[in-house]
Amino acid sequence: MTAYAVREIEKVVEEAEAVAAEASVESTNMANSPVCAHHWIIEPANGPVSQGQCQNCLEVRDFKNFVDSYHQDDD
Ligand SMILES: [Zn+2]
Repeated sequence: MTAYAVREIEKVVEEAEAVAAEASVESTNMANSPVCAHHWIIEPANGPVSQGQCQNCLEVRDFKNFVDSYHQDDD
C-alpha cells in the first residue's frame, strides 16, 4: 500500500520536473536578463494568441490560447 503511494508521488514529481525543465529551456532562449520568476499579466483571450507582460521585468511574450474551434488557414 505504502509503496504504491510512493510510486504515485514519484510520478507526479517527475511530471512536475519535466514541466520545469521545459520552462527553463524557454527562458534560456531569451537569456538576456537575470533569472526572473516571471509574473505574467495576460490579456483576455480574444484569438489564438494573447500578449502578456511580466510585472517584474516587463518582458513581453505571446501566450498561445487553446481555442479548439479556431483554425487559421494561411496557405
Ligand atoms: Zn519577469
